[in-house]
Parts: sequence; structure tokens; C-alpha cells
Amino acid sequence: MPPTPGHDKDGVYAIIKEIPYLTEMQKRLKSAKNVVVIGGGFIGIEISDEIKKSGVENVSVVEIEEHCLSQSYDDDFCVEMEEQLRSRGIVIYTGSKIVSIDGGEQVESVTLADGKKIVADIVILGIGAVANADLAKKIGLRIGLTGGIVVDRAMRTSDANIFACGDCAEKVSFFGGNSSALRLASIATLEARVAGANVFGIKRETPGTIGVWGTAVGNLALGTAGLTEKMAKAHGYKVISAVNESINRHPGKLSGAANVKIKLVFGANSGILLGGQVRGDASVGEIMNAISACVQNRMTAEQIAMFQSGTHPMITASPIAYGIVNAAEAAISKMVEAKDRS
Ligand SMILES: Cc1cc2nc3c(=O)[nH]c(=O)nc-3n(C[C@H](O)[C@H](O)[C@H](O)COP(=O)(O)OP(=O)(O)OC[C@H]3O[C@@H](n4cnc5c(N)ncnc54)[C@H](O)[C@@H]3O)c2cc1C
Repeated sequence: MPPTPGHDKDGVYAIIKEIPYLTEMQKRLKSAKNVVVIGGGFIGIEISDEIKKSGVENVSVVEIEEHCLSQSYDDDFCVEMEEQLRSRGIVIYTGSKIVSIDGGEQVESVTLADGKKIVADIVILGIGAVANADLAKKIGLRIGLTGGIVVDRAMRTSDANIFACGDCAEKVSFFGGNSSALRLASIATLEARVAGANVFGIKRETPGTIGVWGTAVGNLALGTAGLTEKMAKAHGYKVISAVNESINRHPGKLSGAANVKIKLVFGANSGILLGGQVRGDASVGEIMNAISACVQNRMTAEQIAMFQSGTHPMITASPIAYGIVNAAEAAISKMVEAKDRS
């Protein structure tokens, strides 16, 4: 719970993993008319869509950043998801900070920094996930910068006989080794495979957290593997990015075909893939994972252009319109142009 005044009022819920708590929230939602979700990250937007689908009349998302999902995707991807949410009846306030949750014992409204009030019978917090490291603190294990239990790459804590993995453990980024605040099931299971293998002797080390995630609302899905262009620049990389849009069936009029957009971000000097984003249908899931394999192996644009893919009309894009390869080719053209200019 963030320290926003009024967070302890009746009708304010966080998305915590406790079945009785969430069942009670669901019961309350059945009679709610006005729901405000604080935080337009992937938990906030997915829960707001589920609530809207369940029949609640007014559902609003309030996001402090300029766009929903801006910590997960570059702006053009965020805008597409915002349009999808609006088309499904969800009201979005971006660049808006909630300064108080108001009412008597029961929540009645929220107030934004610009003074606007939004009526609310239920407020849901989609923000504020932190490591649960209480037990580790009690027994004196070292705690890291993001509040997780410090582990080495073998997932050993500061006590060599204790391993930690998952949300409670501190993470290091694949990109440069600094602390990473990402907490995901995909990271937890990788770390579990490392820790489990190492309990009887060190056999595995984590390469660091790449960060791979997806977001789906209705038939629109987004996915990221590694760094977005915004994140790469914030990490200090000079980047070259390229976008490809193609249909994921061939011919494109086959039923179930969807337009898939792929953006790849490369280090401008090294040509190495730093990350990629995908927008499309359910096929986005495995495309983001294929991009992650390229990131993890530090593949260059040239190596990706030589990627050997399989093809079938009903289940893949045409081999001449294979998005990951064509985005890499487009990036190579930009790299050549940049070299010619310098
Ligand atoms: C709404 C929501 C949606 C998400 N969606 C995704 C997604 O799409 N993709 C993704 O990769 N990640 C997603 N995540 C994140 C993902 O759920 C977590 O990263 C993942 O569950 C972490 O696994 P874990 O085993 O470390 O922790 P948990 O799954 O939290 O498991 C820890 C368990 O330990 C128990 N426990 C805690 N303290 C003690 C104790 N002292 N003694 C005994 N037991 C204890 C807890 O009750 C809990 O059951 C989502 C999270 C939320 C909240």
C-alpha cells in the first residue's frame, strides 16, 4: 500500500495473492458502479478490462506517466493499448497523480493533483509490488538496493547454506549487471532452475535478468523482450531501431491472420540486439520469446538477418515477410546509411 492519504478506507484494494481477499473484492465489485484503478501498468490495465467486462458501468485508470504501460513499452505501443482500452469503454487519465482517496469510512472518490475528483465505490491499486524479504531480514541476510535478498549469480544468499529465488530475491540486469526491480514469474522460474541445480554443488549461474513480458486486452497483445528504445537510451546506449509490420499468415487473407508489428532495438556501434517489442494477436507470445533468445545470445542484426525460420501458411508469416528477420534487415540498412554519413 502506498502512503496515499485514504488508502486504508473501506473499498480500497490492492492486487495481493490471497484468495479470500480477492473473493471479497470480487463480491464487492458485483454491486459497484464506479471503479477507479490507480496505476496503468500491466496489472492495472488488465484488471480494469476484466472489471469492465464483468459489467461495471464506469471504470477509470489513473496513470501518473504520460502513457499507460510507459515503463514496459515505447510510446507508439502504449498509445495502441490506450486506444484499445478506450474502445472497450475504459476512461484513462494519464499524466495524472492521485493525491488522496476520499470519503468517510467507505471510499467515495479520489482527488487528482489538478483538483479533479472521480467518484469511486471501489479503488484498486495496481502499483507497488515489493520483495517480501521479512524472514530473510529477521535472520540477518543481506538485503539489496531494491529491497530483495542479495544473491550471487548461483542464487546463494550472504549465508552460503541458504539460496533464494523469485520475487523475494534481488536481481541483476543482463544489461550491465546493475540491480533490476523486475519481478516476474518467468524470472522466478529461471532462478529456481539455477538455485535448485546448485543446492548440491554449483552447476549453474543466471546470466542476469533480460525482462520478457506480455500484455493482452481483448484481441490486442503486446510483448517486450529486453530493453525498449526508451530504456536503452536511459541505460546510455546509442541505438538504431527498426520496425516491420507484416501479416502472420500467408496468404494474408487466411482466417485468423493478424497484422504483427515488430520493433527491434540494436546497439548502434555493436549492432547487437538489445531488445524488441511486438504488437499483434496471441502469436505475440512466442515472438517475444524468440526475440529473447536472440537478446540472450547477443545476436547482431546481421546474425538475425541470417536466422533460419520455419514456415507454414496457417501458422507463420510468409518467409519473405518474417517480421524478426525483416526488422533486422531494415536496421542493417539504417546502420549502413549511418556509416556512409559519418
Ligand atoms: C496480478 C498479477 C499478474 C501477474 N502476471 C504476470 C505475468 O503475466 N507474467 C509474469 O511473468 N509474472 C506475472 N506476475 C508476477 C508473478 O506472479 C510473480 O513474479 C511470481 O509469482 C513470483 O513467484 P515467487 O514464487 O517468487 O513468489 P509467489 O508466487 O508470490 O510465491 C511465494 C509463496 O510463498 C508464500 N510465503 C511467503 N512467506 C512465507 C513464509 N514465511 N512461509 C511460507 N510461505 C510463505 C506466499 O504465500 C506465496 O504462496 C503477476 C503478478 C500479479 C500480482
